[in-house]
Amino acid sequence: MPATPRNRTVARLRPFASTIFAEMTALAVSQDAINLGQGFPDSDGPVSMLDTARQSIADGLNQYPPGPGMPVLRQAVAADRLARYGLDHEPDSEVLITVGATEAISAAILGLVEPGEEVVLIEPYYDSYAASVALAGAVRRSVPLARSGTDFVLDLDALRAAITPKTRMLVVNTPHNPTGTVFTSDEVGAIAEIACEHDLLVLSDEVYEHLVFDGRTHTALATLPGMYERTVSVSSAAKTFNVTGWKIGWACGPSELIDAVRAAKQYMSFVGGGPFQPAIAHALTHEQKWVKELRDSLQTKRDVLYAALVGAGLDVLSGGGTYYLCADITGIGEHDGIDFCRRLPQRIGVAAVPVSVFTDHPQQWNTLVRFAFCKRDHVLEEAGRRLRTLGASRS
Ligand code: PMP
Ligand code: GLN
Repeated sequence: MPATPRNRTVARLRPFASTIFAEMTALAVSQDAINLGQGFPDSDGPVSMLDTARQSIADGLNQYPPGPGMPVLRQAVAADRLARYGLDHEPDSEVLITVGATEAISAAILGLVEPGEEVVLIEPYYDSYAASVALAGAVRRSVPLARSGTDFVLDLDALRAAITPKTRMLVVNTPHNPTGTVFTSDEVGAIAEIACEHDLLVLSDEVYEHLVFDGRTHTALATLPGMYERTVSVSSAAKTFNVTGWKIGWACGPSELIDAVRAAKQYMSFVGGGPFQPAIAHALTHEQKWVKELRDSLQTKRDVLYAALVGAGLDVLSGGGTYYLCADITGIGEHDGIDFCRRLPQRIGVAAVPVSVFTDHPQQWNTLVRFAFCKRDHVLEEAGRRLRTLGASRS
């Protein structure tokens, strides 16, 4: 007798069976649409970094690197954070190389939060946070960002109200995915005060730390008073050097927190990306000018996409940093972002992602859609041309 298909996935992971990025990228490929859904660049990072990776393979750096990561990369990460933030991490005990920021996030939650303890997320939130909280058997509480004109701001009262005696960790992401918001230094300061007052651990996801526009600055949470000792700062090479496929990330913080992250990480992947590690070390040390040019070019691309979305009749929000702009679709008579995104590739040959999937209150976020602008100029211009037809082709 044929076996009846059953869902064998453990209950705590069932809500996370498939990611929106996988769904929308598959749809974009099947419809031959321009993919402004999943955020990845379509051009390469610095040539000297790519050459260093090739050379590393040719030189035989093809076996397991050390568990915490190659010393050359840990030293480069520490030197970079000292130069940019004045944070002095001891490279052997306070820097851990991970398989992308994704692993650093999961390992931090698994290593630092007990089952049943609460983790506060700021909504909308990057999808891996909720899944990692579920993997850890912890409890998720989410605090929505508030809309203020065309910006998003932190609702500090709501944040305070979400904290209970069981709260162990607060996850902060600035520059913020999916909204593109860069928290002001006042907002980051207020988060720090709340974390200190309630003695919380903080997971600070800073993967877009370089991608801030219009003269804004990124405030690293760990630099604020009382924060170094309670913060695991996470970043990655993916968005800084256009290498989302290399999966080289890192977690930095005091050794007692990094020990906990490493305890989980070593049984998730043990190590990863051997030959890429010296290449990222090289890029961190020698390619900061390239990163500045990347930031400037992304700001221009942001402007191109902004104009196209406005031309399509959409209300555009935020745009302070990252790869993303969010747009409200009510202006063109649409009300359901998920349905809109599922139809968009076939309708105009462009893919996007609905913001509601990054929330616990989908009804409140249902009319927002995220578009990525990290694409070559001619691709973005063609996407813009297609988007502008939206206003004319209401369906
Ligand atoms: N955090 C945020 C906010 C992201 O947007 C992403 C995706 N780049 C990640 C973490 C994961 O980073 P990585 O690709 O280095 O695992
Ligand atoms: N960080 C990227 C985004 O938000 C891609 C994430 C992924 O594919 N898992 O679009």
